Amino acid sequence: MNEQETPQKELTLSEFQRLIRKMYVEKDIERGFAGTFMWLIEEVGELATALRNGTLRECEEEFADVLAWLTTIANIVGVDLNKALLDKYGAGCPGCGKLVCDCPDYEKP
Ligand SMILES: [Zn+2]
Repeated sequence: MNEQETPQKELTLSEFQRLIRKMYVEKDIERGFAGTFMWLIEEVGELATALRNGTLRECEEEFADVLAWLTTIANIVGVDLNKALLDKYGAGCPGCGKLVCDCPDYEKP
């Protein structure tokens, strides 16, 4: 991983998904989505703790972990996160279609 010795200033979602795949794909496929989902939920719990009691730095670390495990599951099942996000949110709210959501409060999102 010599090309990564210089930290990048920006990382796109696609680049991040490729990076996670490069670092972990064999272990991730072997573990499978069910076991990996457990790791994701554990990290979601750690994020909740950090949001409630942690420093900004601790919150940053937990957001990174949650996104990494979510990305790992996408890799295992073959979901391209960039495509998924563009398809669902790229043109605005999936509920009302607007860039500033005006869906009724009783509906998601
Ligand atoms: Zn909406």
